[in-house]
Amino acid sequence: MSRADLATVAAEAAACTRCPLALSRTQVVFGAGSPKADLMFVGEGPGAEEDLRGEPFVGRSGQLLDRLIAEELGTDRLGVYIANVVCCRPPENRDPLPEEISACRPWLDAKLELIDPKVIITLGNFATRRLLNTKLGITKMRGQEHPWEGRIVVPTFHPAAALRAGGGQVLAEMRADFVRAKQALMRVAEGISP
Ligand code: URA
Repeated sequence: MSRADLATVAAEAAACTRCPLALSRTQVVFGAGSPKADLMFVGEGPGAEEDLRGEPFVGRSGQLLDRLIAEELGTDRLGVYIANVVCCRPPENRDPLPEEISACRPWLDAKLELIDPKVIITLGNFATRRLLNTKLGITKMRGQEHPWEGRIVVPTFHPAAALRAGGGQVLAEMRADFVRAKQALMRVAEGISP
């Protein structure tokens, strides 16, 4: 992959055939938001609506994510960057396979390098395991900051988990994790390193 800006990498990714998801996708969902964001979200993979629209988190999970970004962080999706562990929709919304996650690794690595976010919120098990290289589940990993490669990772539940739970404690814990990430961002802005 050439060393380039985000738009150039996205254009390269749009033609990606590194894994079989290329055969069933409508389009590559590279990511959305500010290429200079201090806060990046990493989710799992595009669903049906994302696959059609070419933008991450535009379905029901995305509506909840937008709400939490507004209510807990006081910004919107243009003020952050949103990506996924895999850029192409797994058929029938199944989980992404380990080999698909590996194949997509260079694209997420490039986004992390070029956007250079100070704080990353990982949404659910797949993103948390992919970044923090752990086998632990989200329930064990969330609720705290994890220093990672000079950045701060704040794991939280995937919005779909909060939707399945009907809000309640899962949503309350997501809100607490968003506040945790906001506090980390404020520390970084004050020059207190991660
Ligand atoms: N779920 C995800 O993990 N990512 C999306 O982009 C949409 C739903």
